[in-house]
Amino acid sequence: MDELYQEYERLMCEGRASEHMLDAVLHELANKPIYIYGALGRTATLLMLRLNELAISIKGGFDRRSSSTVTNGLHFAVKPSEQVSELSEEDVLVLAAGSAELFRSMQFEVNKFSAGIGPKIIDGRKLTYVLQNLHCANLAREEKHENLMTCIGYHTKPFKCEYFMRLTERLASKEIPQDIKTDGSTFNSVGYLIGEWCNLKCAQCCEAVPYLDSKEMVSIDEIVADLKKLTASITFLHRLDIVGGEPFAHRNIAAIIKEIRKLPGIGYIAVFTNGTIMPSDELCAALASERVIVTNSDYSQSLNDAQKKKIKDTIEKLKRHGVQVVQIADRYWFDLIQFQRNTVNDQELEKNYRDCFLESCRRLYRGTLFHCAVQANGVKLGRIPKTNVVELHTACAEEIRRQLDVFESERFIESCRYCALPIGAKEVQAALQLKDGKIRTRQKQLDASTV
Ligand code: SF4
Ligand code: SF4
Repeated sequence: MDELYQEYERLMCEGRASEHMLDAVLHELANKPIYIYGALGRTATLLMLRLNELAISIKGGFDRRSSSTVTNGLHFAVKPSEQVSELSEEDVLVLAAGSAELFRSMQFEVNKFSAGIGPKIIDGRKLTYVLQNLHCANLAREEKHENLMTCIGYHTKPFKCEYFMRLTERLASKEIPQDIKTDGSTFNSVGYLIGEWCNLKCAQCCEAVPYLDSKEMVSIDEIVADLKKLTASITFLHRLDIVGGEPFAHRNIAAIIKEIRKLPGIGYIAVFTNGTIMPSDELCAALASERVIVTNSDYSQSLNDAQKKKIKDTIEKLKRHGVQVVQIADRYWFDLIQFQRNTVNDQELEKNYRDCFLESCRRLYRGTLFHCAVQANGVKLGRIPKTNVVELHTACAEEIRRQLDVFESERFIESCRYCALPIGAKEVQAALQLKDGKIRTRQKQLDASTV
């Protein structure tokens, strides 16, 4: 069964999967006792939605967070992880991991609890991807796919989805009438780091914000110039993330969003915030658009009551002003602020890069395009050599396009040799807050490590 849907996924990515093959995958699933591991996480929520639509029933779930039996919205029991030992070889356990790394760590846990003679294991991330594409195809066929909110928050890589791409092009053309180009690089998704300051101090911040010495905010003119340069070399930027630091802490955030919305060649704009800074009325007005979604990375579990209240008030205000909002509560992160050179060989790095959940998080900062946040941070902190990047300032549109094609075809990047993911990064509670003293200690540790 695992082989069947993996083969399906591979062929689907190449545009060669048949409906017959998909039917076989669904038939197999419908006839097995299915349990979900990591049942209270984000991937599981999405997976259960899709299985539910297909009338494929789930017999139960397991999750580390649960210390007693609980029932979630889909009405099945979620037991503590160790009780996975109750399953037999006849059962199917779908590991609902959001990344290849998490999948490996779940696989390790299940083997430990079930002493190796456990249920049949399935990669829930890949299965979700397959089912999500089916869902999107159905929505498009029924012409229901007009709301961006139906795409966001549950698609593993929405910017690669054909239906998402056409939708964002339509929404952008509604705001600024434009012809969608047919030539240019197919590069189509990036996150712009608009500033390096944040009011929170998360120990494992994936943008390394607490450890950056400069707390620079990028000017509107520079952001607009970079985006114009990028969009001149590509067919369409289907997804632009606005990230930081904390974007709402940027003095000119309202003007930045307004200016970006005037630029042709850009579709969905995702503005990320920790939700603890109240947006002004002007900012709410700038964000109220069919093609803008504010994503609240909700770190309530690691914050105090006053901060939790601020998040609640921020979300309420945004919604009152007609802003589309999604809240995503991550419970675990990987500790990626290390940059020690690893000894993984090129073949393994290639495989890791293909699987890496951050590989799709391109970053743009002051004219330089990076493959992922780890690379951007490592370069900024002086821990990683600046290679495999595209410099927008120094090249003409044609040259940028050529460089983007190289960038997109890379099998892995030099940064992967300095990244903790290929060697199995440590999992930590998301958004643990650091006191100033600890930040300085960690900064010193980073300085002491050798490149
Ligand atoms: S909220 Fe935390 S993770 Fe987000 S930018 Fe601030 S420090 Fe980093
Ligand atoms: S450096 Fe490589 S392995 Fe690490 S996050 Fe970036 S792409 Fe992934």
